[in-house]
Amino acid sequence: MSRNYVALLGTKGGPAIRPGSSMPTSNLLCLDGQQMVVDCALGVTRGLVDQGVQLKTLSRIFITHLHSDHYLELGPLLHTAWTAGLKTSVDVWGPAGLNDYWDGFLASMKADIDLRIEDEGRPDLRTLLQIHVIDEGVVMQQDGLTVSAIRTEHPPLIDCFALSFKGTSKHVVFSGDTAPITALEDFARDADLLVHEAMLESALPALLERVGNGSDKLMEHWLRSHTFAHDAARTASNAGVRQLALSHLIPSDDPDYGEQDWKNAVADHWDGALHVGTDGLRIDL
Ligand SMILES: [Zn+2]
Ligand SMILES: [Zn+2]
Repeated sequence: MSRNYVALLGTKGGPAIRPGSSMPTSNLLCLDGQQMVVDCALGVTRGLVDQGVQLKTLSRIFITHLHSDHYLELGPLLHTAWTAGLKTSVDVWGPAGLNDYWDGFLASMKADIDLRIEDEGRPDLRTLLQIHVIDEGVVMQQDGLTVSAIRTEHPPLIDCFALSFKGTSKHVVFSGDTAPITALEDFARDADLLVHEAMLESALPALLERVGNGSDKLMEHWLRSHTFAHDAARTASNAGVRQLALSHLIPSDDPDYGEQDWKNAVADHWDGALHVGTDGLRIDL
Protein backbone atom coordinates (compact mmCIF):
# COMPACT_ATOMS: atom_id res chain seq x y z
CA MET A 1 0.00 0.00 0.00
CA SER A 2 2.86 2.38 0.63
CA ARG A 3 4.32 2.05 -2.83
CA ASN A 4 4.43 5.35 -4.67
CA TYR A 5 4.14 5.36 -8.43
CA VAL A 6 2.60 6.92 -11.49
CA ALA A 7 1.15 4.71 -14.21
CA LEU A 8 0.76 6.39 -17.58
CA LEU A 9 -2.45 4.79 -18.83
CA GLY A 10 -2.76 6.72 -22.08
CA THR A 11 0.07 8.67 -23.64
CA LYS A 12 -0.96 10.09 -26.99
CA GLY A 13 -1.82 13.73 -27.55
CA GLY A 14 -5.17 14.45 -29.16
CA PRO A 15 -8.40 12.44 -29.23
CA ALA A 16 -8.20 10.48 -32.49
CA ILE A 17 -7.09 6.86 -32.46
CA ARG A 18 -6.15 4.74 -35.44
CA PRO A 19 -5.05 1.13 -35.92
CA GLY A 20 -1.95 0.65 -33.80
CA SER A 21 -2.52 3.87 -31.81
CA SER A 22 -1.70 4.41 -28.21
CA MET A 23 -4.58 5.89 -26.18
CA PRO A 24 -5.22 9.51 -25.18
CA THR A 25 -4.32 10.98 -21.81
CA SER A 26 -5.09 9.28 -18.50
CA ASN A 27 -2.90 8.61 -15.49
CA LEU A 28 -3.02 6.72 -12.22
CA LEU A 29 -1.13 8.20 -9.28
CA CYS A 30 -0.50 6.23 -6.09
CA LEU A 31 0.84 8.32 -3.26
CA ASP A 32 1.06 7.17 0.36
CA GLY A 33 -1.29 4.31 -0.40
CA GLN A 34 -3.94 6.60 -1.88
CA GLN A 35 -4.93 6.29 -5.51
CA MET A 36 -5.93 9.16 -7.75
CA VAL A 37 -6.85 9.33 -11.41
CA VAL A 38 -5.52 12.29 -13.38
CA ASP A 39 -7.45 12.85 -16.62
CA CYS A 40 -9.95 10.39 -18.06
CA ALA A 41 -9.56 10.01 -21.80
CA LEU A 42 -10.88 7.17 -23.88
CA GLY A 43 -9.38 3.95 -22.49
CA VAL A 44 -9.06 5.07 -18.86
CA THR A 45 -11.32 2.31 -17.53
CA ARG A 46 -9.39 -0.49 -19.26
CA GLY A 47 -6.11 1.16 -18.29
CA LEU A 48 -7.02 1.24 -14.60
CA VAL A 49 -8.17 -2.38 -14.56
CA ASP A 50 -4.96 -3.40 -16.32
CA GLN A 51 -3.07 -1.78 -13.43
CA GLY A 52 -4.98 -3.95 -10.97
CA VAL A 53 -7.30 -1.22 -9.73
CA GLN A 54 -10.66 -2.33 -8.34
CA LEU A 55 -12.97 0.24 -9.89
CA LYS A 56 -15.32 0.22 -6.90
CA THR A 57 -12.49 1.71 -4.80
CA LEU A 58 -12.20 4.87 -6.91
CA SER A 59 -12.53 7.97 -4.78
CA ARG A 60 -10.53 10.83 -6.29
CA ILE A 61 -10.37 12.01 -9.89
CA PHE A 62 -8.76 15.15 -11.31
CA ILE A 63 -9.42 16.64 -14.74
CA THR A 64 -6.89 19.16 -16.08
CA HIS A 65 -9.11 20.71 -18.77
CA LEU A 66 -12.14 20.17 -20.94
CA HIS A 67 -10.58 18.86 -24.12
CA SER A 68 -12.06 15.49 -25.00
CA ASP A 69 -8.67 13.76 -24.97
CA HIS A 70 -8.69 14.40 -21.20
CA TYR A 71 -12.27 13.66 -20.06
CA LEU A 72 -14.26 11.82 -22.74
CA GLU A 73 -14.47 8.64 -20.64
CA LEU A 74 -15.12 10.19 -17.21
CA GLY A 75 -18.80 9.26 -17.30
CA PRO A 76 -18.30 5.74 -18.63
CA LEU A 77 -15.56 5.18 -16.02
CA LEU A 78 -17.85 6.13 -13.16
CA HIS A 79 -20.79 4.21 -14.57
CA THR A 80 -18.63 1.11 -15.01
CA ALA A 81 -17.24 1.52 -11.48
CA TRP A 82 -20.86 1.68 -10.28
CA THR A 83 -21.70 -1.57 -12.05
CA ALA A 84 -18.52 -3.03 -10.48
CA GLY A 85 -19.86 -2.31 -7.00
CA LEU A 86 -19.07 1.35 -6.29
CA LYS A 87 -21.19 2.44 -3.34
CA THR A 88 -19.06 5.21 -1.86
CA SER A 89 -18.82 8.78 -3.06
CA VAL A 90 -16.28 9.91 -5.60
CA ASP A 91 -14.82 13.41 -5.59
CA VAL A 92 -13.95 14.91 -8.96
CA TRP A 93 -11.93 18.10 -9.24
CA GLY A 94 -11.85 19.95 -12.52
CA PRO A 95 -12.68 23.11 -14.46
CA ALA A 96 -16.05 24.82 -14.56
CA GLY A 97 -18.20 23.01 -17.10
CA LEU A 98 -17.69 19.52 -15.68
CA ASN A 99 -21.14 19.70 -14.06
CA ASP A 100 -22.74 20.13 -17.49
CA TYR A 101 -20.84 17.11 -18.80
CA TRP A 102 -21.91 14.97 -15.84
CA ASP A 103 -25.54 16.09 -15.98
CA GLY A 104 -25.61 15.36 -19.71
CA PHE A 105 -24.01 11.95 -19.22
CA LEU A 106 -26.52 11.01 -16.53
CA ALA A 107 -29.38 12.17 -18.75
CA SER A 108 -28.07 10.11 -21.66
CA MET A 109 -27.95 6.97 -19.47
CA LYS A 110 -31.13 7.61 -17.48
CA ALA A 111 -32.94 4.52 -18.74
CA ASP A 112 -30.09 2.22 -17.79
CA ILE A 113 -29.40 3.87 -14.44
CA ASP A 114 -33.07 3.77 -13.38
CA LEU A 115 -33.30 0.15 -14.49
CA ARG A 116 -30.27 -0.99 -12.52
CA ILE A 117 -31.40 0.81 -9.37
CA GLU A 118 -34.78 -0.92 -9.62
CA ASP A 119 -33.63 -4.25 -11.00
CA GLU A 120 -30.28 -4.76 -9.23
CA GLY A 121 -30.78 -2.70 -6.09
CA ARG A 122 -27.87 -0.40 -6.77
CA PRO A 123 -27.48 2.99 -5.05
CA ASP A 124 -28.38 5.99 -7.19
CA LEU A 125 -25.33 6.85 -9.27
CA ARG A 126 -26.57 10.46 -9.35
CA THR A 127 -25.86 10.83 -5.64
CA LEU A 128 -22.36 9.36 -5.65
CA LEU A 129 -20.42 12.11 -7.38
CA GLN A 130 -19.18 15.35 -5.86
CA ILE A 131 -17.77 17.78 -8.41
CA HIS A 132 -15.41 20.49 -7.19
CA VAL A 133 -14.67 23.35 -9.58
CA ILE A 134 -11.00 24.24 -9.35
CA ASP A 135 -9.05 27.45 -9.71
CA GLU A 136 -5.40 28.33 -9.15
CA GLY A 137 -4.04 27.61 -5.69
CA VAL A 138 -4.65 24.77 -3.26
CA VAL A 139 -7.29 22.50 -4.75
CA MET A 140 -7.48 19.83 -2.08
CA GLN A 141 -5.90 19.06 1.27
CA GLN A 142 -6.81 15.69 2.77
CA ASP A 143 -5.12 12.80 4.53
CA GLY A 144 -1.61 14.31 4.30
CA LEU A 145 -2.04 15.08 0.60
CA THR A 146 -1.92 18.55 -0.89
CA VAL A 147 -3.00 19.15 -4.46
CA SER A 148 -2.41 22.54 -6.06
CA ALA A 149 -3.07 24.02 -9.49
CA ILE A 150 -1.74 26.73 -11.76
CA ARG A 151 -3.22 27.85 -15.06
CA THR A 152 -1.26 26.82 -18.10
CA GLU A 153 -1.11 28.44 -21.52
CA HIS A 154 -3.37 26.40 -23.74
CA PRO A 155 -5.42 28.75 -25.90
CA PRO A 156 -8.21 29.05 -26.68
CA LEU A 157 -8.95 27.46 -23.29
CA ILE A 158 -8.55 29.61 -20.18
CA ASP A 159 -9.21 26.89 -17.64
CA CYS A 160 -6.39 24.47 -18.24
CA PHE A 161 -4.38 23.49 -15.20
CA ALA A 162 -1.06 21.96 -14.25
CA LEU A 163 -1.49 19.91 -11.07
CA SER A 164 0.92 19.31 -8.22
CA PHE A 165 0.48 16.39 -5.82
CA LYS A 166 2.48 16.46 -2.58
CA GLY A 167 2.38 13.50 -0.25
CA THR A 168 4.35 12.95 2.93
CA SER A 169 7.56 12.18 1.05
CA LYS A 170 6.94 12.43 -2.70
CA HIS A 171 5.97 15.23 -5.05
CA VAL A 172 4.55 14.68 -8.55
CA VAL A 173 3.58 17.35 -11.08
CA PHE A 174 1.53 16.99 -14.25
CA SER A 175 2.00 19.78 -16.77
CA GLY A 176 -1.45 19.46 -18.28
CA ASP A 177 -1.59 20.72 -21.84
CA THR A 178 0.49 23.83 -22.24
CA ALA A 179 2.87 25.92 -24.27
CA PRO A 180 6.18 26.38 -22.41
CA ILE A 181 5.63 28.50 -19.28
CA THR A 182 8.26 29.53 -16.75
CA ALA A 183 5.69 29.36 -13.92
CA LEU A 184 5.90 25.59 -14.20
CA GLU A 185 9.54 25.70 -13.05
CA ASP A 186 8.62 27.02 -9.60
CA PHE A 187 5.49 24.92 -9.48
CA ALA A 188 7.50 21.73 -10.09
CA ARG A 189 10.53 22.78 -8.03
CA ASP A 190 12.50 19.69 -6.86
CA ALA A 191 9.60 17.35 -7.66
CA ASP A 192 10.28 13.62 -7.75
CA LEU A 193 8.57 13.38 -11.13
CA LEU A 194 7.36 15.82 -13.76
CA VAL A 195 4.97 14.35 -16.33
CA HIS A 196 5.15 16.82 -19.19
CA GLU A 197 3.36 16.92 -22.51
CA ALA A 198 5.67 16.84 -25.52
CA MET A 199 5.85 17.28 -29.27
CA LEU A 200 8.69 16.07 -31.46
CA GLU A 201 9.61 19.07 -33.60
CA SER A 202 11.27 17.12 -36.40
CA ALA A 203 8.18 14.94 -36.88
CA LEU A 204 5.54 17.67 -37.12
CA PRO A 205 5.78 18.44 -40.86
CA ALA A 206 5.11 14.79 -41.71
CA LEU A 207 2.24 14.69 -39.21
CA LEU A 208 0.69 17.81 -40.70
CA GLU A 209 0.93 16.19 -44.09
CA ARG A 210 -0.90 13.11 -42.78
CA VAL A 211 -3.63 14.59 -40.59
CA GLY A 212 -3.77 18.29 -41.48
CA ASN A 213 -6.62 19.83 -43.41
CA GLY A 214 -4.58 21.70 -45.97
CA SER A 215 -4.24 24.91 -43.98
CA ASP A 216 -1.68 26.09 -41.42
CA LYS A 217 -4.28 26.08 -38.63
CA LEU A 218 -3.30 22.80 -37.01
CA MET A 219 0.41 23.69 -36.98
CA GLU A 220 -0.46 27.10 -35.51
CA HIS A 221 -2.48 25.38 -32.78
CA TRP A 222 0.40 23.03 -31.94
CA LEU A 223 2.90 25.87 -31.72
CA ARG A 224 0.61 28.14 -29.71
CA SER A 225 -0.75 25.59 -27.25
CA HIS A 226 1.79 22.80 -26.81
CA THR A 227 5.45 22.22 -25.90
CA PHE A 228 8.37 20.73 -27.79
CA ALA A 229 10.17 17.89 -26.02
CA HIS A 230 13.35 19.97 -25.80
CA ASP A 231 11.43 22.78 -24.07
CA ALA A 232 9.84 20.31 -21.66
CA ALA A 233 13.37 19.09 -20.90
CA ARG A 234 14.51 22.64 -20.25
CA THR A 235 11.61 23.20 -17.85
CA ALA A 236 12.48 19.96 -16.03
CA SER A 237 16.14 20.98 -15.72
CA ASN A 238 15.35 24.47 -14.50
CA ALA A 239 12.87 23.05 -11.98
CA GLY A 240 15.46 20.57 -10.70
CA VAL A 241 13.06 17.62 -10.84
CA ARG A 242 14.41 14.12 -10.23
CA GLN A 243 12.64 12.31 -13.10
CA LEU A 244 11.00 13.48 -16.31
CA ALA A 245 8.27 11.59 -18.17
CA LEU A 246 7.18 12.69 -21.63
CA SER A 247 3.55 12.00 -22.34
CA HIS A 248 0.67 13.37 -24.44
CA LEU A 249 3.06 12.61 -27.29
CA ILE A 250 2.63 14.32 -30.66
CA PRO A 251 3.11 12.40 -32.85
CA SER A 252 2.46 9.06 -31.21
CA ASP A 253 1.95 6.73 -34.13
CA ASP A 254 4.50 7.60 -36.81
CA PRO A 255 6.59 4.46 -37.42
CA ASP A 256 9.45 6.66 -38.63
CA TYR A 257 9.89 8.09 -35.11
CA GLY A 258 10.50 6.11 -31.95
CA GLU A 259 11.87 6.29 -28.42
CA GLN A 260 15.38 7.18 -29.56
CA ASP A 261 14.14 10.25 -31.41
CA TRP A 262 12.53 11.56 -28.24
CA LYS A 263 15.69 10.84 -26.29
CA ASN A 264 17.76 12.67 -28.88
CA ALA A 265 15.38 15.63 -28.78
CA VAL A 266 15.91 16.21 -25.05
CA ALA A 267 19.60 15.21 -24.83
CA ASP A 268 20.96 18.76 -24.90
CA HIS A 269 18.76 19.90 -22.04
CA TRP A 270 18.20 16.94 -19.75
CA ASP A 271 20.57 14.30 -18.38
CA GLY A 272 18.44 12.88 -15.56
CA ALA A 273 16.08 9.92 -15.53
CA LEU A 274 13.85 10.04 -18.60
CA HIS A 275 10.70 8.07 -19.41
CA VAL A 276 9.24 8.24 -22.90
CA GLY A 277 5.57 7.51 -22.35
CA THR A 278 4.01 4.24 -23.42
CA ASP A 279 0.53 3.09 -22.36
CA GLY A 280 0.69 1.20 -19.08
CA LEU A 281 4.20 2.35 -18.15
CA ARG A 282 4.65 2.39 -14.39
CA ILE A 283 7.16 4.86 -12.96
CA ASP A 284 8.30 4.34 -9.37
CA LEU A 285 8.83 7.50 -7.36
ZN1 LIG B 1 -4.67 17.13 -24.94
ZN1 LIG C 1 -5.85 20.23 -24.58
